[in-house]
Amino acid sequence: LIEVKNLKKAFGDNVVLRDISTEIRHQEVLVVIGPSGSGKSTFLRCLNLLEQPNGGTITIDGRNLMDPTNKINEIRMELGMVFQRFHLFPHMKVIDNIMLAPLQVRKWPEDKARKKALELLAKVGLADKANALPDSLSGGQAQRVAIARALAMEPKIMLFDEPTSALDPEMVGEVLAVMKQLAKEGMTMVVVTHEMGFAREVGDRVMFMEQGVIVEEGNPQQIFEAPTQERTKSFLSKVL
Ligand code: ATP
Ligand code: MG
Repeated sequence: LIEVKNLKKAFGDNVVLRDISTEIRHQEVLVVIGPSGSGKSTFLRCLNLLEQPNGGTITIDGRNLMDPTNKINEIRMELGMVFQRFHLFPHMKVIDNIMLAPLQVRKWPEDKARKKALELLAKVGLADKANALPDSLSGGQAQRVAIARALAMEPKIMLFDEPTSALDPEMVGEVLAVMKQLAKEGMTMVVVTHEMGFAREVGDRVMFMEQGVIVEEGNPQQIFEAPTQERTKSFLSKVL
């Protein structure tokens, strides 16, 4: 579904992604782990061209993202992104936050967008919050709204960048549960997280990044129980 070849990204002299090559298969859950500054967020942001790569290719569904003749906005619609912070519009009700992109970008009629938004709110367990304002929600609820909002565009792939890192511990579980359900339904997902329990349980593949390279990748059992690289072992000994 996604093919990444020799991806490179630098900010000035700071080379953040050195040579990233990997493939993400349809319905796969790829969990990306690694120390702070290793380039995890930059990797995700390159996948939907929030950052412009300096080299290499990214192909999604056979379409090269770097090809200027491709319509970036169309490709971008196939990727939903959820960030550490929720970025909901504070002056808009929850339901309007969710309906905004389907109405404006997909040009859906109002009733279709509303129906979809209500379905998604039910799915993330917040059917009763449609008319609430974001500020009245807990962090866990706001993040579930952010997930619903991303899903409203009917993306083929969901990208999560540390979706639970900004949450109080008691709210982490409710967000991970929604993500786990999505995975179970067959959503293709790339998840940057420090939640090793989630990585083990839900991940099909775990990628360990450090200093802009993929040090090691494999299924969760391989990575957590039998890492082959010293750097992976050392990182895991600090986080497990
Ligand atoms: P963390 O776990 O702290 O989120 P990360 O693995 O996501 O870290 P990135 O955010 O990808 O790491 O950052 C990797 C490097 O790129 C860092 O050195 C950072 O300072 C640099 N960087 C990231 N975004 C930018 C930017 N927009 N401009 C300049 N430098 C940036
Ligand atoms: Mg990051």
